Amino acid sequence: MVKLTSLTCEHRSEPLGIDITQPRLSWQLVAERRGARQTAYQLLVGSTADGVADLWDSGRVESCQSVDVVYQGTPLTSRQRCWWRVRVWDELGEVVTSESTWWEMGLLTRSDWRGAWIGGPLVGGPVTTIPNPYLRRGFTLAGEVATARLYVACLGLHDCTLNGQPVGEDVFSSGWTDFNLRVRYQVYDIANLLKSGENALGVILGDGWYCGRTGWNPRQRYSDPPRLLAQLEINYRDGQQEIISSDTAWRCNYGPLLGSDLQSGESYDARLEMPGWDTPDFDDTSWCPVKTFTDSGVALVASNGPLVRRIHELSPIDKPTTLGDATIYNLGQNMVGRVRIRVTGKAGVTVRLRFAERLQPDGSIYTTNLRSALATDHYTLRGDTEEIWESRFTFHGFQYVEVKAVGGTPVMAEITGVVLHSAMTPTGEFSCSNPLVNQLQHNIQWGQKGNFLDVPTDCPQRDERLGWMGDAQVFAHTAAFNMDVAGFFDKWLQDLRDGQFADGGVPPYTPNTDADYDGGPGWSDAAIIVPWTMYLAYGNTRVLREHYQCMARHLDFLTRTSRDYFRGYPDMPAYLGFGDWLSMDGGADLMGGTSKEYIGTAFYAYSARLLGKIAHILGFSEDATRYTELADNIRTAFQQRFLTADGILEQNTQTACVLALHFELLPTACRAAVAAQLVANIRQRDMHLATGFLGTPYLMHVLTETGYLDVAYALLEQQTFPSWLYPVTQGATTIWERWDGWTEEKGFQDPSMNSFNHYGLGAIGDWLYSTIAGIKFDPNMPGYQHAILRPRPGGTLTAARGALQTRYGLLESDWHIEGNTFTWKVTVPPNSSATAYLPTGDTATITEGGVPAATAPGITAVTEASFTLAPGSYHFTAPVKG
Ligand code: BGC
Repeated sequence: MVKLTSLTCEHRSEPLGIDITQPRLSWQLVAERRGARQTAYQLLVGSTADGVADLWDSGRVESCQSVDVVYQGTPLTSRQRCWWRVRVWDELGEVVTSESTWWEMGLLTRSDWRGAWIGGPLVGGPVTTIPNPYLRRGFTLAGEVATARLYVACLGLHDCTLNGQPVGEDVFSSGWTDFNLRVRYQVYDIANLLKSGENALGVILGDGWYCGRTGWNPRQRYSDPPRLLAQLEINYRDGQQEIISSDTAWRCNYGPLLGSDLQSGESYDARLEMPGWDTPDFDDTSWCPVKTFTDSGVALVASNGPLVRRIHELSPIDKPTTLGDATIYNLGQNMVGRVRIRVTGKAGVTVRLRFAERLQPDGSIYTTNLRSALATDHYTLRGDTEEIWESRFTFHGFQYVEVKAVGGTPVMAEITGVVLHSAMTPTGEFSCSNPLVNQLQHNIQWGQKGNFLDVPTDCPQRDERLGWMGDAQVFAHTAAFNMDVAGFFDKWLQDLRDGQFADGGVPPYTPNTDADYDGGPGWSDAAIIVPWTMYLAYGNTRVLREHYQCMARHLDFLTRTSRDYFRGYPDMPAYLGFGDWLSMDGGADLMGGTSKEYIGTAFYAYSARLLGKIAHILGFSEDATRYTELADNIRTAFQQRFLTADGILEQNTQTACVLALHFELLPTACRAAVAAQLVANIRQRDMHLATGFLGTPYLMHVLTETGYLDVAYALLEQQTFPSWLYPVTQGATTIWERWDGWTEEKGFQDPSMNSFNHYGLGAIGDWLYSTIAGIKFDPNMPGYQHAILRPRPGGTLTAARGALQTRYGLLESDWHIEGNTFTWKVTVPPNSSATAYLPTGDTATITEGGVPAATAPGITAVTEASFTLAPGSYHFTAPVKG
């Protein structure tokens, strides 16, 4: 019997307060048997929980679609709670109906908001922070509460409590968008926190990205001070409604939070606490009235994607060391977030906390690579019993915490690392028989945790932390294996559209802080590559549609700033780019040895080719033809310019070969020679890579596809520098920005550019899943509606397992080799299918569940090399090729 689970609306379970008026509904089938699939569905959506489908009854729809079915019922209104169920007919003709679930609409128009923007009276300066304003509003309930919602938008960061209790689990809301245009609001169900009689709402505001430092810039990128727009809506059982908005009735004060900045850190003096300030009995007569601010006209949009949350906690892995008057704790993991301390001491003693990713040879913390980010917290003790403190509006990237005390010697009972990132559901697992590769996978995942904090940042520790486009572009595919990043990137792509220049160029980082130039090859092309990747990983056509104009304008910009199909002319008004950033083949030039014109033209061709495909998918046939012709013309020009008479590449770098092969820029007849050229380059370097940000993501795929799987494995398992495993052998727990961030010979690289938590070079992650474990999307049926399962054992590996929670359910590939037998366990989720290739080739020699595979139930379309698998679990065995 089929069961229905994982009902989601806009990729989330029971989302509260979305503003997508035609949300996408998805569900999953669960079944033990092989071949379970949906033949028809019926969606039932109602305005009450009683099951009446008064908003939409789709009727029986003959379709296997179970992912992203677009709501097409009665137009939805602000605050509407929509209850929904799905009924499914399976391939046996049985009918099953899901449990009922819901989504709720947010405030859809500006006129739904009654209040004013409010905040404290103090304003900081470009360098000087101000204490954090505490705002409160007492109110009396007028009856028995049926439902209650709190809607909050903040230019800055907010931390809301009701009667002293947190209203939600998110931190750093309202996050980071281009605040000149757009701010997200959050919605909380606060009915359970309300009490009869007197109540109090408390809000502390933080500078965040709105007022605080962004990138290498001073404070006040958008404005100062932080401000709040809040609306508490209470529906009483008797049908009355009460709305309490942010207005002049609120009171304000400054208290123990003396200042906070995402980069600089936070200072807190517990002697200034105002006990009970956010509870009803508190007397706020000495507080001042709040200041109101004029509305800048910024658009208020719902938080449709994940918000940042506390995700894990880490404890020090060994006893702290002491160095002079400093104590240093090692959390064993380069992490992003903050610490919670448990401390006892005299009133007025200040604990200073500093954060670092690495230690110096003398055991002290290494902070030079943080550049101007102070990353320092101060906590001044109240001095009574044990005190527990965790900073609120800052985060650091660190493994080590240095503690020093001023004015006395407190007893530190406990220090805990609190890991923060956007709350994306983990979806992927990868492991294999080489523990160093498993550590690499761990490091890739922690690079993602550390840098997917509301925007995809390059690094989390120094005075940068920007949504660099190139970094996001190279890592997006890997990211989509590890976690569900659909909502995260939907949000960021909106930021990208917001930041597009009038001439169609897109800045090098999103949100843009200060750049007035197009990001250049491989960076600005994120505008096309990232939505395309989301389409492949999730079957998300909406993102292609929403982003289409942005992509088309970007490509037109490239055409206008190119000449004779070459992008990257020195005298053209477009940025030439960052080259193959941090490649090892450029000597002292961080941009590597591949010319910018070469890279630019290659990415121009690739962007045009992808946009041609996207236009075709969306049904824009004229555009599809135009962009495809453009891609062909660029390819011809590329070949004329960059191929030698012998049919190899003039530019003898690994990245030049990788881009030409991966972007299919070569005549078919030249592919083998260029692949050989790449391999010769690798061999000349004694089996080492030299690629930077742009070549690295495709290097292993190109080697695999051109018949050099053995070379790919040699690079994977290479332990000497430069390689993926070199940092692993040096104890790395995240991906380093540079291949040579630290080496035995030279120690630390130049501190002006040396992060130990950059995900870019971790872009090998998708090769681990797709080639070693063999889990790959099928571009013709994206989002794993049909999967390609093709493990490719090699190197020293004797086993590997990859698992991915797709929109259809768990897709799994788990193989091992013992003696002469290859054993492979496969799971294909219901309502999807897969083509399976065994590395042993000849399908005639393969068994499944003990019988010849070709005769096993669920297996069809047997060719010499592959099978088609219906949903279900399979257990193959095959002789290993001699
Ligand atoms: C960042 C990179 C980024 C680059 C542009 C650096 O400062 O950390 O990751 O892509 O600038 O080249």
